[in-house]
Amino acid sequence: MGLSGKTKVYGVIGDPIEHTLSPIMHNAAFKSLGLDFVFVAFRVEKAELKNAIGGMRSLGILGLNVTMPHKGAVMKYLDRIDPAAAFIGAVNTIRNDAGELVGFNTDGVGALKALKENGVNLSGKKLLLLGAGGAARAIAFYVAREAEELVILNRTAEKARRLAGSLLKKFGKRVVADSLSKSPLRKNLRDSDVLINATSVGMHPNTSQNLVSPEWLKPELCVMDIVYNPVKTRLVKNAEAVGAKVIGGIEMLIHQGAESFEVWTGCPAPLKVMREALLDQLSGGETSLHGKS
Ligand code: NAP
Repeated sequence: MGLSGKTKVYGVIGDPIEHTLSPIMHNAAFKSLGLDFVFVAFRVEKAELKNAIGGMRSLGILGLNVTMPHKGAVMKYLDRIDPAAAFIGAVNTIRNDAGELVGFNTDGVGALKALKENGVNLSGKKLLLLGAGGAARAIAFYVAREAEELVILNRTAEKARRLAGSLLKKFGKRVVADSLSKSPLRKNLRDSDVLINATSVGMHPNTSQNLVSPEWLKPELCVMDIVYNPVKTRLVKNAEAVGAKVIGGIEMLIHQGAESFEVWTGCPAPLKVMREALLDQLSGGETSLHGKS
């Protein structure tokens, strides 16, 4: 559909932003449903965030994705925050409801859907979550009630403990928290069913970094790595090599994008179209993602 005077604008803000994959996914989705919408990327420096959100209001931009480094800072400029996003302390999706800006977080539900769509049901399972940053908090919010047992390990152990404390307060769920060091990692991996890496370890350009020794992996484990650049991290490759079930970061990327689409449009997201557009873009192989964040 060509652009016209009636075309509605959506977008993503972040810094850097040039390599975002969101416009690929959302423009393909809009086109497939015949929506007269366009999705564009805006580089917004930290000092310009307040003005950018003011611009969203005055230009009537209907929806924005928010990425690094603005996910936390943007909250104070919005009129209302969805309760899940308030718990997580980060917004990655803004909807403009006739001038009222509402913040959501679709990362956690995206991760949960990626697990479910890949046949992983957390009921009765022990889940080991690595990380306590923004993405890990979002995931923890959604998996805490689903998994039988949740263990959170983070380099800064205090952050993992704070997250466990807030999950106990919110859901009455007891969560074990510890430092992301060799001994707790190895010990917890022995009886875990699902491992999620929600740290940035292994992300481009540090692609040889890996927290989990290959010999600690086992075929019965499901390994999800939310890092999607490179498409196959060292952890994912090692997990594949032992015959473990593997879910790469692209899966969560697609599902969080689909959730944002649904927040904005109220329509079911055309998942297949969004996936194909993304995979098409990446079909040059994993090297084509280098430098993207
Ligand atoms: P963040 O808030 O900055 O958190 C980073 C996390 O990684 C923290 O837990 C941090 O530990 C840990 N970490 C960083 N370097 C480490 C190291 N050398 N050793 C051990 N732990 C380390 O970032 P985020 O927003 O949560 O994003 C994390 C990753 O997820 C990024 O790679 C991002 O691209 C990816 N992500 C993917 C999706 C998707 O849809 N697939 C969505 C969101 C994010 P400390 O707390 O100790 O610093």
